[in-house]
Amino acid sequence: MINKERLVNEFLSLVKIDSLSKNERKMADALLEKLRAMGLDPYEDDTGSKIGGTAGNVICKIKGKKEKPALLLMAHMDTVVPGLSKKAVVEGDIIKTDGTTILGGDDAAGIAVILETIRSLQEDNEEFGDIYLAFTVCEEGGLFGATNLDLSKIPADYAIILDEGGPIGTAAVTAPYYNKFKVVFKGKAAHAGMEPEKGISAIMMAAKAIAGMPCFGRIDEESTSNIGMINGGQARNIVCDTCTIEGEVRSTDENKIKDYSERIMNWFRKTAEEMGGSAEIDLETMYPGFRLKDSDPVIQLLKRASELSGIPLNLQPTGGGSDTNVINGAGIPAVNISVGMEKAHSTEEFIRISDMEKACEFLTSIIKAAYSYNHQ
Ligand SMILES: [Zn+2]
Repeated sequence: MINKERLVNEFLSLVKIDSLSKNERKMADALLEKLRAMGLDPYEDDTGSKIGGTAGNVICKIKGKKEKPALLLMAHMDTVVPGLSKKAVVEGDIIKTDGTTILGGDDAAGIAVILETIRSLQEDNEEFGDIYLAFTVCEEGGLFGATNLDLSKIPADYAIILDEGGPIGTAAVTAPYYNKFKVVFKGKAAHAGMEPEKGISAIMMAAKAIAGMPCFGRIDEESTSNIGMINGGQARNIVCDTCTIEGEVRSTDENKIKDYSERIMNWFRKTAEEMGGSAEIDLETMYPGFRLKDSDPVIQLLKRASELSGIPLNLQPTGGGSDTNVINGAGIPAVNISVGMEKAHSTEEFIRISDMEKACEFLTSIIKAAYSYNHQ
């Protein structure tokens, strides 16, 4: 049985811990201790040293009654800013903050729901298959924890990531590929009043390049692009010789993201050259997208869990990236399910206790559905 009081207390204790991206040490220590107290044998990987953070991913295998299908349950340990000294305020069914920080339900709710679900299964002596837990670092900072997970040590058949909002039963089944870029426009400096004709303005170059971009903002139903930062110039009276822009392209279609990214970069290059300057381009794929079909076994698993629990399934696309992208890209079919977080990444973030409870019921049903599933 899901123990509501234990769930709420666990959530509140996790919210109290400062755990900004790359500073997850206290959270990792707390989780290692909690998992050991549950009779489990967790370990921490070496991601911390690889990414310059204070902690690695916390991983744990829970031996079940059968090996297949094995489930990987994931939530991330880090939070966005402002996330130091978070003070949770409980008002009836709602948990929010005092308004000065985020709540960090993204993703403490995911962690609390996983812990409560496992505790209740252990307590009730329920039978289940092999389960792996992975609590990742630095999800918000670029999915670096998930990217560095050694999945050869986690032979899971399906992954359930608990890091979404929306009504419980919501699952993100489509997410975009993500490219980031940095372009340095190079012109030529000159005195702006005495001999401007000898200069080539990198700011003008960037302005023309951005204004004429072949695609910007909402490109089509499944693709977007953005310039998020621009920086350049030294003084009002100098023709600017260097201007840097940074942006992104997203699409759930792998061919489209390639095509749009190439068109944009070619346009930047051409614009710079036409003005007598140059554009140094750094385009990088941050993570792959995914698109799950109704017939995919992991979706079938969610459908059976929905029938078992009576919680309606709500399959949705998402425009964001999460650890789910990385795990799908690495070949383990993965879905991101809702834990009920609302207004995440803002100081108005809140969560309903009843939603977290329901998320535990849904996760319990997923684990039971996997156990009764005849894996081929
Ligand atoms: Zn999150």
